[in-house]
Amino acid sequence: TCGICVEKCPFDAIEIINLPSELAEDPVHRYGENAFSLYGLPVPESGSVTGILGPNGIGKSTAVHALAGELTPNLGRHGEDAPGWETVIDRFRGTELQTYLETLQEGAISVARKPQYVDQIPKQFDGNTRDLLERTDERGALDDLIDRLQIRPVMDQDIDSISGGELQRVAIAACLARDADFYFLDEITPYLDIGQRMTAARLIRELAEDDDRSMLVVEHDLAILDLLADTLHVAYGEPGAYGVITDPKSVRNGINEYLKGYLDNENMRIRPDSITFEEHAPRVSSKENELVEYPDLRKSYGEGEFSLEVESGTIYESEVLGIVGPNGIGKSTLAKLFAGSLEPDEGSLEFALDIAYKPQYIEIDQPIRVDAFLSSITDRVGTSYWNTEIADPLQLDRIMEQNLTDLSGGERQRVAIAACLSEDADLYVLDEPSAHLDVEQRVQATSAIRRYAENHDATVLVIDHDIYMIDLLADRLMVFDGEPADHGHAKPPQEMRAGMNDFLADLDITFRRDERTGRPRINKPESQKDREQKRTGEYYYSA
Ligand code: ADP
Ligand code: ADP
Ligand code: MG
Repeated sequence: TCGICVEKCPFDAIEIINLPSELAEDPVHRYGENAFSLYGLPVPESGSVTGILGPNGIGKSTAVHALAGELTPNLGRHGEDAPGWETVIDRFRGTELQTYLETLQEGAISVARKPQYVDQIPKQFDGNTRDLLERTDERGALDDLIDRLQIRPVMDQDIDSISGGELQRVAIAACLARDADFYFLDEITPYLDIGQRMTAARLIRELAEDDDRSMLVVEHDLAILDLLADTLHVAYGEPGAYGVITDPKSVRNGINEYLKGYLDNENMRIRPDSITFEEHAPRVSSKENELVEYPDLRKSYGEGEFSLEVESGTIYESEVLGIVGPNGIGKSTLAKLFAGSLEPDEGSLEFALDIAYKPQYIEIDQPIRVDAFLSSITDRVGTSYWNTEIADPLQLDRIMEQNLTDLSGGERQRVAIAACLSEDADLYVLDEPSAHLDVEQRVQATSAIRRYAENHDATVLVIDHDIYMIDLLADRLMVFDGEPADHGHAKPPQEMRAGMNDFLADLDITFRRDERTGRPRINKPESQKDREQKRTGEYYYSA
């Protein structure tokens, strides 16, 4: 260990060139002797969207409690030594936080908040969507929010009967409908498809720009965060032990530095490797051996319910095939057809493939330990090979002895990905591996899946809404279109350029490239680049 970390080095004993200088000072808050310490605070600014980028357990919510006046920072001093507000404000004298904290202390700041785990809402609220939303309509904006977030169809439905994606949109509407000075949204994208993510991002931007409100957003989808935020604080440290929130950076520099794994101003390495994107259409797939050729397929759920039409196509050995499309369009249905857990109504799948399938909704509720569960799938658990390939990148070591039933959503997701990749199979199908993972875990899971595919010549199908994850993983793309919840249509797999153009044209979104790093960035609608790229039909890659 390097001296600050209580446990193992989170970066696997990389050479830490220097320690964060903040750690020499008193923290902003410490929960108790040897308990979690937070260094630094984000700076909310009216008329502006401030982002926080960092792993879970790093102090983001703690910082928000402080900014909301629900927790008086103790500057690391407890009991009789605990400082009063004046001392706290004194600590921030001369910084932008001084005025904010003064106003807060006068009781002149109101806060609206969207919680991170929307799944908890039904446990706390009895009633339908209308009951929940009506009491939040403080600005007279609710009707517009309901329409733009497409909540209207579930207004009379009980809150405990609506889907995760619907709950997320209801929770966003409930927060934005309030009349507050300071809005805090802890993740806006879970369960949402790309179109819905864009809508949520635009609503938040409008409230800042047109209404001069101050918005603070935690988000792990980098493409959306980039579109959403003006400035960005990167949070780093050791989850559960200490967290440092940097001074604000421009959103562009913040994300670039985060991906590079090195924070420039802080002179701080936060990850051993950098993550890079290819600017030009990559990897014109040179795959030769067919894994399967599947025929036209049809599947419908009962009379007049959803129907899926699949155009015949080929999947090659050892390719990673990305699968994209809106929610409710039949992606999971296709995964289940390939996995053999559903039978098609027309066409037949007669391949004798062993398929390892990670479903979208993970139900691993047996009361057994993680190590026992994984050992029931492979006898390689605990070998150095398995540790390097699977346990380390998925950060399993700390949860191996816990019961499956006690795991958080993100922990469960990592165990499920590990379980899928640990199987000996011809085809691996991963349905939404990014769900519930924080940004650092997505980065790690992405490289684990990619490396696994390359080292094992494995064929992998990945369904996901995180465009950076799809870009980093996929060799080719399968695009769905149709009318969600009514009918879906799966096109044959295409090369990345054609597939991205197809998919993004449907969404009316274009990407430009960051000049310095080549990272894809969503264009402002109607900007010159946006119009030019739509005219030439290049939605994603530069020609
Ligand atoms: P994040 O929002 O980044 O996920 P949090 O601010 O919720 O992180 O938590 C940071 C750390 O502080 C976690 O290890 C958490 O267990 C700990 N923590 C949070 N609240 C308390 C508390 N009231 N008492 C002691 N520890 C706490
Ligand atoms: P996606 O994965 O693209 O979000 P799904 O394949 O999960 O889409 O679902 C497509 C549509 O089929 C949705 O409208 C969903 O409600 C419906 N559906 C899924 N499973 C069933 C089922 N077992 N019975 C009836 N309808 C279903
Ligand atoms: Mg699905």
